[in-house]
Amino acid sequence: MLKHAISTLALVMLPAMSAFSIEPAVTQVVLGIHGGTGSAKKEMTPEHEKELRTDLERALQAGYAQLQKPGASGLDAVEAAIRVLEDSPHFNAGKGAVFTHEGRNELDASIMEGKAKRGGAVAGVTIIKNPITAARTVMEKSKHVLLAGRGAEVFASSMGLEIVDPSYFWTEPRWRQIQKVWEKERRGDSKEKSAAIESLRREWSTVGAVALDKAGSLAAGTSTGGMSNKMFGRVGDSPILGAGTYADNESCAVSGTGHGEYFIRFAVAHEISVLVKYKRMPIEAAAADVVRQLQTAGGEGGVIALDAKGNFSAPFNTEGLYRGYAKSDGTIKVMLYEN
Ligand code: ASP
Repeated sequence: MLKHAISTLALVMLPAMSAFSIEPAVTQVVLGIHGGTGSAKKEMTPEHEKELRTDLERALQAGYAQLQKPGASGLDAVEAAIRVLEDSPHFNAGKGAVFTHEGRNELDASIMEGKAKRGGAVAGVTIIKNPITAARTVMEKSKHVLLAGRGAEVFASSMGLEIVDPSYFWTEPRWRQIQKVWEKERRGDSKEKSAAIESLRREWSTVGAVALDKAGSLAAGTSTGGMSNKMFGRVGDSPILGAGTYADNESCAVSGTGHGEYFIRFAVAHEISVLVKYKRMPIEAAAADVVRQLQTAGGEGGVIALDAKGNFSAPFNTEGLYRGYAKSDGTIKVMLYEN
């Protein structure tokens, strides 16, 4: 308890150079979601805020409905919620994915359940409409955990998953975003170039979900277009179990969003899980501790974390984290920035 108080105090005392948000855990949560850290608050319009809130609510409703079905698993809820966000153009996953440096969309996703610790993932896919479903299919229908590129696409297609033309992932706002970066890169102005990279850095809008089913089993999933202007072939944390996604019934389920290279190096999702499991830290202290470590190292981002008792926490070291949860009684709440 004292330890917890100290670690929370340490967070409050962090240098004012950047934001940090940690709130007391919400209890009786069965489903949590995130839509990334999003864009700067000052750039948010009321229309866009409404669109985001509507999509996040729809995702929560879709996931919660799965949890109400007899025998449904947390995996069903995670997959259903993430599919809604993948199909929306407002998040960096599926339809709203960012562009690579070459002007393509390369998607990553993973899913995991906390009972037998089974997991599945796809990386660098360009024609699979819903990468989260492909990740689950890898988990359930192949003998592997992670399939990349063409192999993942051939597998998904052979399993009857929905395949789309790569142009399906093209959206006007993302295209305009990458054009600006390229234009600045062409001009070669190093100040402008770093400002452009800086502004992209702040836009982490990967999506994810964590769920606790009626049998007491946890599940987590994450889906993304990765980092804007990333090198072709770059794989982030989202399809890496232990980095962007993790689930263990003895501790918690985690999904992250932020600068993927840091999430991989710090094994963020797994690290939170072991703090809960072996150090017996409460979920909000464990999650905040790891997000603070990231911040100290210069890694931006946030996580959603749900423990096996239904305590939910969503700390972030950015201005916002699009997030929401559904409680066991069906209450739904969505937040974009600090509460
Ligand atoms: N974590 C993702 C990646 O690095 C990006 C994001 O969260 O938006 O690929």
